[in-house]
Amino acid sequence: MKDNIYNYSRTSFEDYFLNIGSPKFRATQLFEALYKQRIREFSEITNFKKEFRIKLEENYYFGDLEIEKEQISEDGTRKYLFRLEDGILIETVLMKHNYGYSVCVTTQAGCNMGCAFCASGLIKKKRNLSTAEIVLQVLKIDNSLRKEGNRVSHVVVMGIGEPFDNYENVIEFIKVINDDKGLEIGSRHITISTCGIVPKIYQFSELPLQINLAVSLHFPNDEMRSRYMKINKKYSLAELFKALRYYYQKTNRRITFEYILLAGINDSLENAKELVELVRGMNAYINLIPYNETGLFKRSDEKTRRAFFDYLMKNGINAIMRKEQGHDIDAACGQLRLKEMQ
Ligand code: SAH
Repeated sequence: MKDNIYNYSRTSFEDYFLNIGSPKFRATQLFEALYKQRIREFSEITNFKKEFRIKLEENYYFGDLEIEKEQISEDGTRKYLFRLEDGILIETVLMKHNYGYSVCVTTQAGCNMGCAFCASGLIKKKRNLSTAEIVLQVLKIDNSLRKEGNRVSHVVVMGIGEPFDNYENVIEFIKVINDDKGLEIGSRHITISTCGIVPKIYQFSELPLQINLAVSLHFPNDEMRSRYMKINKKYSLAELFKALRYYYQKTNRRITFEYILLAGINDSLENAKELVELVRGMNAYINLIPYNETGLFKRSDEKTRRAFFDYLMKNGINAIMRKEQGHDIDAACGQLRLKEMQ
């Protein structure tokens, strides 16, 4: 069976080419054809000999994602519903910022992490997305931005799914988009968000890529975190922070913590104090997220959020209050897909 050409990093193609007795610079040429010129047929790779193109054609095809629906918000946020080859629907969000365009990619069809506040988990994981299916989310959107003279400059791996539960494909995806012969998205412009799969954090610490790590923390003690996030029953906060301190020591990179403020649950100054204790001494950056109400919980009010934020700043912890985008188009976390499937 033929394989999707977007499934591989340049290094993987180098191995493939060496295996079939071709020089490895062919991988660079192929990458430039795929990601710079954006060719969609082997016959368009004019610097490849015909026999060679036929050989590639025997092994690979050009995968695609079908655009099922596109919604555009007043603030410029765009939400795409894509159909995969087997019919599964996934969603991808494009956000416009003053520093560029960022795409939020989905890594799994559904999610098994089962966080109580998240709409993504309402649909169980059907399967992991392939590298190509993640690459194509960015490529398709970049193609349409190109027509307007713009490009995708940032990627956040924060869509549906747990990226560290699909580790190999996600890392291969990162290599494709980060490659200067590929989509050329700078490593400092790429962020992976995990709910805290500890063994993968250790593995990630060894990766020679300067990409950003974000952790969905949300609760400042085990009692609370285990109640609302299944993953905490497997890896306690002590284990999680041991791994994160290892990552920090190894990479010297800042870690972002996502913290959704839920009214009356995790938004007291007592909680802020616990949070400060937890992250002290590790160059933490706290991202306070206004909750997108999807069910059980209520968003903390402005005043409470402000007080929580001030407490962190006063205690020397870097924080920001994330502003909301695309609220008029169900832009948060599995809402569009959920609606489409119901
Ligand atoms: N599984 C990964 C990435 C996907 S979730 C992770 O857990 O980090 C991306 C972020 O959105 C996470 O921080 C998640 O907790 C948050 N999130 C989920 N539901 C939300 C909601 N209704 N409102 C605001 N943020 C939400």
